[in-house]
Amino acid sequence: MFFKITKSKPNIILEKTEREIKLKKDVLDSILSYCQMKHPNEGILILRGKSKKGNILIDGLIIPPFAFNAHSSSGFPHYMLPADMSYVGTVHSHPSGNAHPSVTDLNNFFQLISLIVGFPYEDKDIFAWDSNGNAVKLTII
Ligand SMILES: [Zn+2]
Repeated sequence: MFFKITKSKPNIILEKTEREIKLKKDVLDSILSYCQMKHPNEGILILRGKSKKGNILIDGLIIPPFAFNAHSSSGFPHYMLPADMSYVGTVHSHPSGNAHPSVTDLNNFFQLISLIVGFPYEDKDIFAWDSNGNAVKLTII
């Protein structure tokens, strides 16, 4: 018997990672309005929450100190932050509408997870990525 080789699809990556990100609805609403406010520049926020065995619950946001927001990049100096285990990652916007992480995003990966919101910043425009640029399942609760 031969195994049939199928081309990889995004859902296969999701099965492999076994991670799940849960995002509270009120936090999502805050993220989306922040991105709209920053448009056409990028906006960036730090995600607070709890992490257990790769599963992450995001229940809060912090505006990073000394953040910069330009048209195609945003960030903050990581050394300005105190070591805090409740920082689980970042969320930033992509005014271009493409919610995939850029090479710069992956090089500046902070903590466990990166959420990216693509224009027009609606509920369906937010995606979660790991430090390798693989999609992670994101559930709004
Ligand atoms: Zn980016």
